[in-house]
Amino acid sequence: MLRYFRHKRLLDLFQLTETLFREDIYKIINEQLKLTIQSGARNNPSFRSRLESYGVKWFKFRGLEELESIPINTNPTLPPNNKYIKGRQIAMAAAFQRFLSWHGNYGKKVVWITPNKSRLLLSGLTRNSYIIPFTNNLGYIVQELQNQQNFILAARPAILSQLALYLQRTNNKTIQPDLIIAFNHDITQGAEKLLKRVFDCSIVRLISDYFYGSMIATCRYDYYHLYEPLSLHEILDESGFPVTSGRGRLVTTPLHIQHPELVRYNTGIEVIANKNSICPCGLSYRTVDALSYTTRPYIIGEKKQKLLLPLAEELHSNIVGVRYEQNFPGEVLISLLECEKGKYTPFDYREWFAKFWEKSIKILLIVDNRPEILGDSSLSTYNITTSSHD
Ligand SMILES: [Zn+2]
Repeated sequence: MLRYFRHKRLLDLFQLTETLFREDIYKIINEQLKLTIQSGARNNPSFRSRLESYGVKWFKFRGLEELESIPINTNPTLPPNNKYIKGRQIAMAAAFQRFLSWHGNYGKKVVWITPNKSRLLLSGLTRNSYIIPFTNNLGYIVQELQNQQNFILAARPAILSQLALYLQRTNNKTIQPDLIIAFNHDITQGAEKLLKRVFDCSIVRLISDYFYGSMIATCRYDYYHLYEPLSLHEILDESGFPVTSGRGRLVTTPLHIQHPELVRYNTGIEVIANKNSICPCGLSYRTVDALSYTTRPYIIGEKKQKLLLPLAEELHSNIVGVRYEQNFPGEVLISLLECEKGKYTPFDYREWFAKFWEKSIKILLIVDNRPEILGDSSLSTYNITTSSHD
């Protein structure tokens, strides 16, 4: 019962913050941050001495203005304690309901397809859910889904895309979710188009980092919002300075639970900061333009320059999935799977990549429309063997 009340209380609190003025959101974040640092220091001697070694006077910590005196943790570890997991699950379950209500599906049953059930259960996102384990037997998954009605379908984009290709090939139109959640990992424009065509419903993209410290979800206008009541987000460049527009890494400090080990860590998620954060959906949470679920590798161009792989969302709009292979500097092999077959030639795609990298690399390109090239995790995979010797 107590947990129910906590869930309800958090739900109300989260809903309340959604339309506040930016300054009020900062005020709340600032208060939470002070609380997190101070109670963390009080309860955990090793964190306290860590703060003292940075010269931070935790008992009069001033919040945001003093945050940069805490160095960024680039190698955080998951807190083993059970209290942390329980607290996080309650916060995540409440946040998740807010995402559903942004899309008019509050309280609806969610059917998850996942290869890693135990990890998903730890997240807290599985309240009121049915979980189908992912195997390569798509026929079995389809059978399970056919028993479901009035549901939301949630899985990684690569799994959703494989399922969509399977349904398309078998001309099966019986799976009709009310909403799709493309969870963690990048999604390409081509995959989004494919999912919309096959399932004919809206898609929410939902991203969290490995520790579920930070959540990012798209609104009904399809913009990414940083979920600010859960954590303090910073978008920083390599030297730790804030990025106001362009690419940066997402550094987060979870605020929903007092756990000092996770104060100010690098999530490894790359985002494109958005200067103008006013969104037509009415949410006040900060928006970002595009993101990459992991720090992307680069390939080596003809003149030994570093060429960043495009973000999945930046790719040519007809590409569902893509695989990069580089064994020698100056050339790359790209295999890709298309949304609409035959609309473009391999030459068109090659031109697109050549333009992206400003013609500084030799590109070998194969259109390979077998669904197997997607795998089960990511729509953008790479096998780069040159990165280490530059
Ligand atoms: Zn929005």
